[in-house]
Amino acid sequence: MKLVFATNNQNKVNEVQSLVPNHITILSLAAIGCEEDIPETQPTIEGNAIQKAQYVKEKYGYDCFADDTGLEVHALNNEPGVFSARYAGPQRNAEDNMNKLLDNLKDKEDRSAHFKTVVALILKGEQHTFTGICNGTIIKEKKGKKGFGYDPIFMADGFTETFAEISLEDKNRVGHRGKAVTQLIEFLNKNR
Ligand code: IMP
Repeated sequence: MKLVFATNNQNKVNEVQSLVPNHITILSLAAIGCEEDIPETQPTIEGNAIQKAQYVKEKYGYDCFADDTGLEVHALNNEPGVFSARYAGPQRNAEDNMNKLLDNLKDKEDRSAHFKTVVALILKGEQHTFTGICNGTIIKEKKGKKGFGYDPIFMADGFTETFAEISLEDKNRVGHRGKAVTQLIEFLNKNR
């Protein structure tokens, strides 16, 4: 069975391929000839994940899953949320996004936040979603060089280092995306 992962990141594809049952072949967007930008115009993280998976199913005919992630900061009414990539503007720059967030939080006492990933799966005509949450705190200054996005200012609960300082293994184990993908893999293993 062929299942498309709506991503251009071959590393993500390889990682999921190594975890699913043998009869499932994971295909990237490039592998099915999808080179256009898939619309992500919904007002929620879940809506965007579903929109991407449905787009691939409708346009290319393959069963598919897609992920969408956002950082929800509690003192800011869960902003930036669905706007995480473009919080400081259309340039989608991680430094600008972090600076804006630190500035907006400077007078707030509550610095708690969570990352949320939703994976939407369309399989055999049915839609399923899997949500992974990672709770933590936004620290006051950037720390660390690893990772991407908001990693240098996010410290997961139970850690004394940011996501940009810990190992990728630790981030995958406690992180939002890892948790959502684990649920997807469990589902695929159970529903052969
Ligand atoms: P996407 O849905 O995976 O493209 O994520 C949207 C945006 O959320 C990214 O552009 C980043 O700004 C942020 N983001 C997603 N995942 C992470 C993460 O693991 N660490 C830090 N920032 C992230």
